[in-house]
Amino acid sequence: MPIHEKSLIRPENLQVHEQLEVEGVDVSGHWSTFIESRVVTDYNEALEDEIAALPGGEYIHRCWQCGSCTNACTVNALNQDFNPRYWIYLIRMGMESELLRDRDIIWQCVSCHKCTYACPRDVVPEGVMKATSHWLELKGHTPKSHSMIFDEIFSEQVFATGKIEDGRTVRHFFKRTGQALHQPWVVEMIKRLLRNLPLGMLTRMGLANVITPKTSGWSGARDAIREYVAEQEEHHRGALGLNELVQMAESELEAGAAK
Ligand code: SF4
Ligand code: SF4
Repeated sequence: MPIHEKSLIRPENLQVHEQLEVEGVDVSGHWSTFIESRVVTDYNEALEDEIAALPGGEYIHRCWQCGSCTNACTVNALNQDFNPRYWIYLIRMGMESELLRDRDIIWQCVSCHKCTYACPRDVVPEGVMKATSHWLELKGHTPKSHSMIFDEIFSEQVFATGKIEDGRTVRHFFKRTGQALHQPWVVEMIKRLLRNLPLGMLTRMGLANVITPKTSGWSGARDAIREYVAEQEEHHRGALGLNELVQMAESELEAGAAK
């Protein structure tokens, strides 16, 4: 299927001659606009399978490119370059280098799920966006996103205690992402909590910050979850060929050092 959306033509691929005359006809300016063709040579034929192997990407093969996801998308309404339909197309075609051109905006999905409700094929485009962001990080194309760091902190807390304590999660998130805890919106939120929550709940929240409550008998469940997570991570590494990539990089480093 050709790429037909005007917004997808990259400015660098548009050529306009300020002064041009063809057979006596003045076609200067936008009359002389033409689109440079591009040749893609570095297809990744495994790209769709790699995304499908990550959580959220499982149903990407169902997409029939209707565009309802992009039409419904919250972020697309603000930025036309944010285009789930187009990225799904690139992934299914194996056009990795084209996908990488948008690596800095794919993670901006706000997980509102409007696309998921609009999709007639149950592709779950929100999941595909999440899987694609995860793929970009695992392959080293982008640094770890804040949402990934938040997920890690959340999981670490569940593993350690079997409970979630919001205040601790937020504090650790701010610290790990290098953000100051003292921000106007945080201060305002705390003020409102103090004003509106019952005293008993506030006391429990305060104590939870100090004594770290744990779920009793949690260790058995924790070990089972850890085992499952390790299995999944190994599966994802295998699907993306990450172990082979690391081995190749190590061999190249060794060869370089031996010279
Ligand atoms: S979940 Fe993400 S991709 Fe889907 S509509 Fe919301 S912002 Fe757009
Ligand atoms: S709405 Fe669903 S089927 Fe349509 S382009 Fe988006 S993901 Fe594909």
